[in-house]
Amino acid sequence: MAQGPYLHIALPTPLRRLFHYRVPPGVDAATLAPGMRVRVPFGHQQLLGILVRVSTHSDLPPEQLRPALAVIDQKAVVPSEVLSAVLWAARYYQSPPGEALHTALPVLLRQGEADQLRPQTVWALTHEGKGLPEGALKRAPKQAALLSALQRHPHLNKEDLDALEINRATVKALEDKALVTAFEHWPEVAHETRILAEPPLTLNNEQREALAQIATEGFQVSLLDGATGSGKTEIYLQAIERVLAQGRQALVLVPEIGLTPQTLARFKARFAQPVVAMHSGLNDRERLDAWLMARSGQARIVIGTRSAIFAPLAQPGILIVDEEHDTSFKQQDGFRYNARDLAVVRAHKLGIPLIMGTATPSLETLHNARTGRYQHLRLTARAGNARAPAIHLQDIRRQPLDSGFSQSTLDAIGAALADGNQALVFLNRRGYAPTLMCHDCGWLAECSHCDTRMTVHQSPRHLHCHHCDHQRALPQRCPNCKSSRLQVQGQGTERSEERLQQLFPEYPVLRIDRDSTRGKNRLHNLLTQIHKGEPGILVGTQMLAKGHHFPKVTLVVILDADAGLFSADFRGPERMGQLLLQVAGRAGRAEDPGEVILQSHYTEHPLVLTLMRQGYHPFADLILQERRATRLPPFRHLVLIRAESKRPENAADFLQVARRESEQLLPPSPKASYVGPLPAPMEKRGGRFRYQLQVGADRRQDLQTILPTLAERLEQSPLGKRVRWSIDVDPQEQS
Ligand code: ADP
Ligand code: ZN
Ligand code: ZN
Repeated sequence: MAQGPYLHIALPTPLRRLFHYRVPPGVDAATLAPGMRVRVPFGHQQLLGILVRVSTHSDLPPEQLRPALAVIDQKAVVPSEVLSAVLWAARYYQSPPGEALHTALPVLLRQGEADQLRPQTVWALTHEGKGLPEGALKRAPKQAALLSALQRHPHLNKEDLDALEINRATVKALEDKALVTAFEHWPEVAHETRILAEPPLTLNNEQREALAQIATEGFQVSLLDGATGSGKTEIYLQAIERVLAQGRQALVLVPEIGLTPQTLARFKARFAQPVVAMHSGLNDRERLDAWLMARSGQARIVIGTRSAIFAPLAQPGILIVDEEHDTSFKQQDGFRYNARDLAVVRAHKLGIPLIMGTATPSLETLHNARTGRYQHLRLTARAGNARAPAIHLQDIRRQPLDSGFSQSTLDAIGAALADGNQALVFLNRRGYAPTLMCHDCGWLAECSHCDTRMTVHQSPRHLHCHHCDHQRALPQRCPNCKSSRLQVQGQGTERSEERLQQLFPEYPVLRIDRDSTRGKNRLHNLLTQIHKGEPGILVGTQMLAKGHHFPKVTLVVILDADAGLFSADFRGPERMGQLLLQVAGRAGRAEDPGEVILQSHYTEHPLVLTLMRQGYHPFADLILQERRATRLPPFRHLVLIRAESKRPENAADFLQVARRESEQLLPPSPKASYVGPLPAPMEKRGGRFRYQLQVGADRRQDLQTILPTLAERLEQSPLGKRVRWSIDVDPQEQS
């Protein structure tokens, strides 16, 4: 007979289930609660797991169950609401629950660290400092800025100072004058009751109406749909202000904090209450502190990247997803969750409003807004005095190009510089050139591990595969015919930078891409230089497109817009349109009206024409019509099963089995369809052959019903042991 109770525990293993243990000797089961950490024996090792439930049931015979070794916590570490959100997501995305928790929780918690905050060093004004009038210390502007920040905020920690760009020397100067002092501060201590550190802007009519439509409590999803610069962030700030006034917290998801320090700075400048960031730039301890401050309610505003969707909140009040169309919200490996979609689920469970903001809604979100599932709020004007940029579509067929630039584009860049402005050149390809070719025999430098060419890099000089990271020396001679006539073809950002510097030697050319920003402060330094506002040229990849404000940029040049039109991925055109408008949105943010030049070989392509002449919504409508006709998302739900192996037939055979199994569970019909197994768009990558099987269904529920059984059968399949395979629910990439 079963000897309950049993502990059902999530362990960090690749198996899609919970593991059962007996209660450790000497522990009273009544003291156990879900969310506590438990140490257990696992094979010959010990693992730390999270208790999911105490149950009288186990499907294993009791004599096979081992007792857990120890219960680490007196109280639950993971709040039950967070635990159930993670487990829900693990089920939905077919992820092992232990792996999902692994992603969702700070690493130190998973290693057994106590869930306790440490005191923090903070700086505040001394009695004398408080006595100074506003606007004092005028002759030392940096010190004046710190003084003024501390007049608005009760105290600032290291991170706040960084966000406000106040350096340590400035702090030291005021400490030496006995105007500022450092002390240790327990984050749990009751804090400032003032909400704002600076007054809000007066909203324009559209903004005011939009804010009025956003609920102050209860579940509601709003798509806040407005061009870059239309004032969406100001609406977030004021919606958050209302929530803070109710004594509740806000959680804000952004694509990439490292790239947009300005966003964080803007939140910190506005609010007198603690704003805490959660992102990959933090060390493990800082991450745990941020998590604990969110859980205790000490952090009133939590701003984070993807995994912050699992942040615990003591008094949740509102969720915000900025740039909801951004693909970084979807994790592409391991636990393949989509934080944007989970935001809807979590807001629903918490019964709080969710705002999704963007200038270029994803088609899924737009469809939900059109069908009334989400409230659709539009901002059509630019906030403040800025005007929208003029977009010129430039046909470059048969035009002579100088390193990718047409003559009229170069003239426009020259004119912008001569007027004392900045020009931004967008090219979504890093490196010097995408191709190295032998002029005599036609040999191409290809990656030996992937079906792709290697990119030529200049600094340092080498060949680099952007898909598997394989690197090689740049050959002096053709390995095939020994000719020395090797030529680079095509443009990368390094080459554009080089050419622009030759053409405009009096001006700085700043390159921003993954290569030029490696290393801690390099991006920051580049941005600082741009923000000085001196005339110059910025060249970069999509890193330039994300959320930056470049007030002095009056000209945006988009060099190679066509790639997305012919992508193997059905989302190619959608992504292209979003990226182009995001880049175009960098122009003319301040008083200067902007201009955008889009060079294209396909100026008569209906998608290009519609996007440029009529804007994003008619463009999105065209794509939606096509998706409806071809039964693709958002009109059908997809699951992609991927498999890869060194021998192509293993991957293909495994997916044949997957298709057979899955057709038994969900027979093909007008409502459910199968495509594949087919080779992935890049069949060979990193030395492995990649195949995929796509399962589509009109109803999400049909897929959800079969997936657990399918996953279980695949886990047991002998072929499955010979390949790497994964299940991707609502895939965002076909690669
Ligand atoms: P978005 O988030 O849509 O890009 P922002 O909220 O960042 O737009 O606003 C763009 C610029 O306009 C910012 O500099 C912001 O301070 C300013 N702004 C926003 N709303 C107003 C307003 N109501 N009055 C004046 N300036 C505003
Ligand atoms: Zn050759
Ligand atoms: Zn490669």
